[in-house]
Amino acid sequence: MPRSRTRTPSGRTRTQRADFVVAAMPPMVMARLKHNLGTDITAALKYAVPTPVGKIGLEYRSRWWETDEHIYGGITPTDTDLATIWYPSYGHQGRRGTLIGYYNFGANAVAYSDLPHAQRLARAVSRGVKIHGDKYRTELDHSFSVAWHRTPHIEAGWVDWPSQTGPEYKLLNQPAGHVYFAATGSAMSSPGSTARSPRPARS
Ligand SMILES: Cc1cc2nc3c(=O)[nH]c(=O)nc-3n(C[C@H](O)[C@H](O)[C@H](O)COP(=O)(O)OP(=O)(O)OC[C@H]3O[C@@H](n4cnc5c(N)ncnc54)[C@H](O)[C@@H]3O)c2cc1C
Repeated sequence: MPRSRTRTPSGRTRTQRADFVVAAMPPMVMARLKHNLGTDITAALKYAVPTPVGKIGLEYRSRWWETDEHIYGGITPTDTDLATIWYPSYGHQGRRGTLIGYYNFGANAVAYSDLPHAQRLARAVSRGVKIHGDKYRTELDHSFSVAWHRTPHIEAGWVDWPSQTGPEYKLLNQPAGHVYFAATGSAMSSPGSTARSPRPARS
């Protein structure tokens, strides 16, 4: 029977027992937990490659992209490090609106996340002005940015698997005793698919 020990905010240790565990933590986070499932499971969890992902929200005093440029929703794929600019698909013809000023991945997401928010904003707006003109700067009111790879307990937008036919991915698509994996990026060990009579967890 799987057993888990957690520490409460007051510092006490609590033990929980269950018939099964569905482990849905991001794999690279779970790889750092103390467990008794074996080193091959840890290696398989570490095999997942976390993807850096970033976004910035830009709130404008006017919906200039609608009134001046006739853009009602959709995306501009750019050849800049913004990757994409997204326009809202709601609130058309309203008073104010919020754009996604960048939705980027990989090296571009890391480059922005290395900066404090004010510099992320300045960099994103300097790119956007080249596409939409001065209103991109002058109508701006508020902003907010997120870097998922820097978010505690999440640590990525999603994970990629270098191979989905190799031993690591196959291992996580099977239960380890009574522990099933349902991590981001679609590794999944489904009840019944590989173990109709699940083995007890190794202790
Ligand atoms: C900007 C963005 C856009 C996306 N767009 C799409 C899309 O269009 N389509 C799509 O399919 N996917 C998309 N994704 C990816 C998708 O959101 C993720 O793959 C999905 O949310 C992963 O779900 P999950 O439940 O596996 O992991 P998560 O949602 O990351 O959940 C993991 C949970 O584990 C918790 N946790 C961590 N450590 C512990 C611990 N020690 N104890 C207990 N809990 C813990 C975390 O707090 C978190 O709640 C997008 C992701 C991002 C960032």
